[in-house]
Amino acid sequence: MTRVAAIPATDASRRAGQRLGGSGRTLRLGAAGRRSGTSDLECRSDGATAARRAVDLGRIEAAVREILIAIGENPERDGLMETPRRVARAYRDLFGGMRDDAARHLSRTFEHQSDELVVVRGIPFSSMCEHHMLPFMGQAHVAYLPGGGRVVGLSKLARTVDVFARRPQMQERLSQQVADALEQHLSPRGACVVMEAEHLCMRLRGACKPEAVTTTMAVRGVYREDIAARAEVLRLMRIGG
Ligand SMILES: [Zn+2]
Repeated sequence: MTRVAAIPATDASRRAGQRLGGSGRTLRLGAAGRRSGTSDLECRSDGATAARRAVDLGRIEAAVREILIAIGENPERDGLMETPRRVARAYRDLFGGMRDDAARHLSRTFEHQSDELVVVRGIPFSSMCEHHMLPFMGQAHVAYLPGGGRVVGLSKLARTVDVFARRPQMQERLSQQVADALEQHLSPRGACVVMEAEHLCMRLRGACKPEAVTTTMAVRGVYREDIAARAEVLRLMRIGG
């Protein structure tokens, strides 16, 4: 039997999907950021809350103020007075993965006498391109082939994506880190992570290519060699038609 599970789409994730598909042209950075921040606040444990306090908010505020001055703005004008403080708090949330650990989410496994494939597709995520400090956002598809009769809660797979997405990132490395965490903590026979994302640094500057979607894949275990198994998991993720 093959288990295919989907994270229920929230309003924000549906909007993210529309953006990715090109059907919606409105950028909703604010909405995406608020959604991420809120879920952090609601869902994280005491350990993560303590870690959040460790961010040097004052230093971020000072830096943002400097940027505003450097671009010729007046940080004292009414609309910008509170901006450094807001940005600092937003960055605390956007980079919350710096002080989180995949082990926290993947270490609690359940006995389940099955070694059949588990796929969670369409996990919305947003991250920050480390080259331009601009967001990239899209969907992650995560699969693993359990080993030793142990499985992990499905929501923990989504949490693991966030642990690594909420850091300065490259999409290529992000996929690999999620796959490595699955391999390290679940000891699966195989793992496959595919991420599809739109990069605002591509949309807004330089190449200026809106609609371009970057796909990255990381495979571990049997999926490295077994072409048929890899084709099956990609089909279940609905990658490549
Ligand atoms: Zn970039």
